[in-house]
Amino acid sequence: MNPIDTFMNPASVSLSDAILATDRRHFMHPGTHASHHASGELEGRLMRRASGIRIEDHAGRSYIDAFAGLYCVNIGYGREEMAEAMAAQSRKLSFYHTYAGFSNDPAVELSQRLIEDWSPPGMKKVFYGMSGSDANETQIKLVWYYNNVLGRPRKKKIIARHRSYHGSGIATGSLTGQAKFHAAFDLPIPQVLHTACPDFYRDARSGESESAFVANCVEQLERLITTEGADTIAAFFGEPVMGSGGILPPPAGYWPAIQAVLKRYDILFVADEVVCGFGRLGSRNGSAHYGIEPDLVSVAKGLTSGYLPLSAVIVGERVWDVIERGSREQGAMSHGWTYSGHPVCAAVALTNLDILEREHLTRHAADVGAYLQASLHAAFDDHPLVGNVRGEGMLAALELMADKTERTPFAPALKVSNRVAQAALARGLIVRPLGINDIIGFAPPLVATRADIDEIVGITRQALDAASEDLPVAG
Ligand SMILES: *Cc1c(COP(=O)(O)O)cnc(C)c1O
Repeated sequence: MNPIDTFMNPASVSLSDAILATDRRHFMHPGTHASHHASGELEGRLMRRASGIRIEDHAGRSYIDAFAGLYCVNIGYGREEMAEAMAAQSRKLSFYHTYAGFSNDPAVELSQRLIEDWSPPGMKKVFYGMSGSDANETQIKLVWYYNNVLGRPRKKKIIARHRSYHGSGIATGSLTGQAKFHAAFDLPIPQVLHTACPDFYRDARSGESESAFVANCVEQLERLITTEGADTIAAFFGEPVMGSGGILPPPAGYWPAIQAVLKRYDILFVADEVVCGFGRLGSRNGSAHYGIEPDLVSVAKGLTSGYLPLSAVIVGERVWDVIERGSREQGAMSHGWTYSGHPVCAAVALTNLDILEREHLTRHAADVGAYLQASLHAAFDDHPLVGNVRGEGMLAALELMADKTERTPFAPALKVSNRVAQAALARGLIVRPLGINDIIGFAPPLVATRADIDEIVGITRQALDAASEDLPVAG
């Protein structure tokens, strides 16, 4: 039934409720419990408008979005300039493909600005897609192609880390180091291996120093490489700060030590900057932030601040030279998407970069991000439910514990982090329960002010207290 017809019937529910009923009937949502959604047990929300860091739903309820959509709305919502760039480019050239030498002005300019201003050193070329997942999918193919051109057909395995998130396709969902992305889908594919997640808070042995913990992670990586045979390992994927797996900044010295092992065994480093790129950590990218020297870089989310879908694979000189050689030997590389280098998406990305640069949002993120971290520590270090406060720049997490002194987690069935997020939502704040352990994530738009941070921290505190009162008494 048409929702409008339902609305016209005076005895019927409101228009929004009718639309939500249609949503339950026909819209398959990502990562959503199908039966809870269909039955209405999962409350639906139609997001209707947004501006700055605030978003409003169908009932007129306003929320601070302290997760920037999904870590992506770096410049904030509702920028007129972005809408204008989109409209202007759509009027001029709404689409043309970029195969076989066809190009367009925005995609050319974007490539130059990404390489010159927004990538780690040593990068050469940019390939475009529509999502972080397809960017990483392209990376895997480039890595395999690279080793085929070099005459190393056995050097094909890819190492990612437990708990990492690199997408949810067949290959990228395999890279993702989380069982729930594998179990019901016959994944991971056999070419993918996983090594230790650097969760110092959870996984360090009692009394173990950070440097001993790092040495242990590095040793596990090296053992995996030598057991499998270095001549079978092509690449390593890493998020500079692990995002969906728990918002885990690396322990001190982790990246230089990991990178040294990869260099020793001639293994390519793919930096998955989908979350960390474009100012999130208070640096232009996570590689710059931690001194990582990647061979390949994936970006997406913050590249357009989510105004349109766009991703980029940024290819370093070393890999590019081999790709060029491959084309001389084998002809054109048969890899690409219809929408690679889409002119409207590229125009939107250019305006996004204009705004990030003009408003110095990377520096602002470093400044307000330091305030966010300090405020979270001040508010929650002594909170009985919070075992660990951590983060970097405008990316932060609280890890909840039933007993913080003993580091005893809550029973997963209690879904404590979901309860806290629900309590925050009821108070006008969006934070994200990460779905691994009991971790509450924060990734506010980079335009958030100190006053916004005060509000975010204040509401989080109320939500935690309210949720803890509702918990069944332990015993
Ligand atoms: C979100 C994310 C991806 C996947 O991006 P999609 O656009 O959802 O396909 C890949 N890597 C990281 C680190 C991400 O956070």
